[in-house]
Amino acid sequence: MRPPLCLPLGKGEMREKNNMLVHIKKIIQAAVKGKYAVGAFNVNNLEIIQAVCRAAEKMKSAAIIQTTEGAIRYAGLDELFALIKAAAEKVSVPIAIHLDHGHDFDLIKKCVEMGYSSVMIDGSARPFAANVRLTKNVVKFARPKGVWVQGELGRLEGAEDWIKTGKGEAFLTEPEEAVRFVRQTAVDTLAVAIGNYHGVEKIVEKKRLRLNLRQLEKISRLIKIPLVLHGASGFSANQIKAAIKLGIRVVNIDSELRVSFATAERKFLSENKKEYDPRKILGPAIAEMQEVVERKMKIFGSAGKA
Ligand SMILES: [Zn+2]
Repeated sequence: MRPPLCLPLGKGEMREKNNMLVHIKKIIQAAVKGKYAVGAFNVNNLEIIQAVCRAAEKMKSAAIIQTTEGAIRYAGLDELFALIKAAAEKVSVPIAIHLDHGHDFDLIKKCVEMGYSSVMIDGSARPFAANVRLTKNVVKFARPKGVWVQGELGRLEGAEDWIKTGKGEAFLTEPEEAVRFVRQTAVDTLAVAIGNYHGVEKIVEKKRLRLNLRQLEKISRLIKIPLVLHGASGFSANQIKAAIKLGIRVVNIDSELRVSFATAERKFLSENKKEYDPRKILGPAIAEMQEVVERKMKIFGSAGKA
């Protein structure tokens, strides 16, 4: 017999037990309290979701599963949400769903209605006032529904989903401006640009990557809401740990999952030219991605905390 969905904790308080799809605030607030970071992993299909959930269960770590607008276009919003929800309900650790790099207001609304507990509105390519205006509108829509909103200030170099920022166009998050942005928009979390970098190119080309930790320290001193590090694939464990010490509470990982997926597939298919079973072909990629996620959870300090 299945155990009940909620267990009473006393005083009428209920704890979700067998359904570990939770609101993102539970996961991030725990990270804030414990001074560690939680991984936000991008998914596009069943196999990546399996890799993240298996790693989370094994490492006893919470995880944020996020979809970009591109992932939703590829797999379908209903389909992706159902897959993530079903997978999350089978693990004993908290999993939350977040929209990464939202910029289409209609799609953001659909995600909120679908049950995402957090959405990002990325107005970082716009001038400050326009970014504030756009972000404020999303907060106005999402807040009454209990959904968290992530904003972004500063521009990361590189490419991800619909975003492409050349070297000359990237700039760091200005601490004073970040204070005004957070105050005026009332976002729940803030993505910062501190030398982090979007896309697989940095890994494939083995770029030498350094975070601007001094800039992060200045931002962190002034901003009291949780800070998010996008484009964090490929940075050394030491760099990421230092950023977490300075207040990063969510670390986004996409590119390393892509690289491990593609590398495992290329290897398997070149070595097994007579294999036609999709389950056998995709198996090694799931295992490789799971390893990446487990490694990240150890670095982020979320392992063993759920
Ligand atoms: Zn990003």
